[in-house]
Amino acid sequence: MIALTEAEITKAIPPGSPGIFKLMNKKGDVKKVGMAETDLAEVLKKAIHPKYEFFEFKATASDKAAWQQLCEAWHYHKKNDFLDSEDHPTPPRGKFWTCHFCEDSKRY
Ligand SMILES: [Zn+2]
Repeated sequence: MIALTEAEITKAIPPGSPGIFKLMNKKGDVKKVGMAETDLAEVLKKAIHPKYEFFEFKATASDKAAWQQLCEAWHYHKKNDFLDSEDHPTPPRGKFWTCHFCEDSKRY
């Protein structure tokens, strides 16, 4: 886990990379998951909030790969943590990707 500050984000994440992130509270519980299509560091800086103390991230090869990993992470943490939002992630605007982890392979 990395402290959720602008300096730490800049240090940890290469610029211009798609990827996913997880935000944790003081106890290390994952409270939020999210993705970035083109620039994870930028998106993460905008997500800085006093509610969250730490972050983890994974850079991905493409925005589609980020989406798939985001869905996997969301399903996992929905079961094991208390996410701030119960809502399933939605793909970036203009993308009609499905989630492979939903039983009904629902379209979002
Ligand atoms: Zn799903």
